[in-house]
Amino acid sequence: MDARANRNVTNVLIVGVGGQGVVMVSKVLALLCQQQGYDVKQSEVHGMAKRGGAVFGHVRYGDVVHSPTIPAGEADILVSLEWAEGMRWLDQLNPDTGIFISDTHKIVPPFACRNRRRGQVPVYSKETPAEILDEVAQGYALDAAGIATRLGNERAANTVLLGLMSTALGFPEEAWLDVICDFVPAKSVEINKAAFLEGREWVKTASVPEAPVVADPMPDPGPEFRNELEIIPAWCKGCDICVRMCPEKCLELNADQVVVIPRPDDCTGCRICEWLCPDFAIKLHTVAVVQPHTDEILAEV
Ligand code: SF4
Ligand code: SF4
Repeated sequence: MDARANRNVTNVLIVGVGGQGVVMVSKVLALLCQQQGYDVKQSEVHGMAKRGGAVFGHVRYGDVVHSPTIPAGEADILVSLEWAEGMRWLDQLNPDTGIFISDTHKIVPPFACRNRRRGQVPVYSKETPAEILDEVAQGYALDAAGIATRLGNERAANTVLLGLMSTALGFPEEAWLDVICDFVPAKSVEINKAAFLEGREWVKTASVPEAPVVADPMPDPGPEFRNELEIIPAWCKGCDICVRMCPEKCLELNADQVVVIPRPDDCTGCRICEWLCPDFAIKLHTVAVVQPHTDEILAEV
C-alpha cells in the first residue's frame, strides 16, 4: 500500500478511546515527518481518557501545510485503535484512495451497557471487517491487541498499528524505530520495537480480514469452576468507570486511586468492568475450583 498521493499534503487521522495511545501514535508520526524535513501540523482532542471517551489526532505533512485540521473526506489514512471508533470516522476517509487500518478489538462504551445483568450482550456496532473493507478503497483489519498480548503487553497494540501504518508512508524503518525509542519510556522500548516490527510484518501476509474480536458474556462457570478477576494495578489510572458501572458494586478505588475488589464473592462474572476499562487493567478468568481433600471433608464432618 502507498498513501503518498500526488499531492503536496498527506493527511493521517488517528482515532480511538481514551487510554489506548492515540496521542502517542500521532506524536511519533508528527516527529518523524518533522525530522524528514516536512512542514507538519498536528492537532488532537484528548483529555477524555478518564471517561473512556473518544480521542482523535490529525497529522498533516507536506511541503507547506496551512491548517492543522483534515478537511472532511480527505484523510489519506484512517488508523483506528478501536473497531467502533473506526466505523464512526469512516466518512472522513478519502473515498477514492483512502486507506483504512483498524484493530478489531472492541471497547464497549458505558452507554452500551444499559442492561447490566449477567449474560446480556451490550449494544455495539454489528459490522464485520469483511463488510467494512468492502466499502473502502483499501483496508486492513487485524487483532492488534491480540498480537500485542502475544508479545507480552496488550497496551502495545497502538504500536502494532503504527507499524502497519508505516508501510503506507515509505519512511525508512530505522527512522521510525529511532523516533519510537526516543519517545517511549526506556522500560518499554523493547516491547514497542517488537510491536512496531510485528505490525510491519503483518501486512506482508494479510489477505483475509480477521474475524472481529467479540467479548462474549461470561457463561455460568458451573460448580467446578469460578470466575476470578485479575487487576493489573500498574495499568489502572483510577478513572472510576468500572467502579461506577459494576452492577454488583463489588469494586472500589483504594487510597492510591487503584481499583480493588473487596467483595470478590459478589462478582457474577458479567465482564462489564473488563469491557469498559480503557487501560486493559481488568481481566476475567475462569479457574477450576480446588476441591478440598475427601479426608478433610470427613474430618470436618
Ligand atoms: S481498572 Fe477501573 S478504575 Fe482502573 S483504569 Fe480500568 S476502568 Fe479505570
Ligand atoms: S467485578 Fe466486573 S465482572 Fe464482576 S460483577 Fe462487577 S463488573 Fe461484573
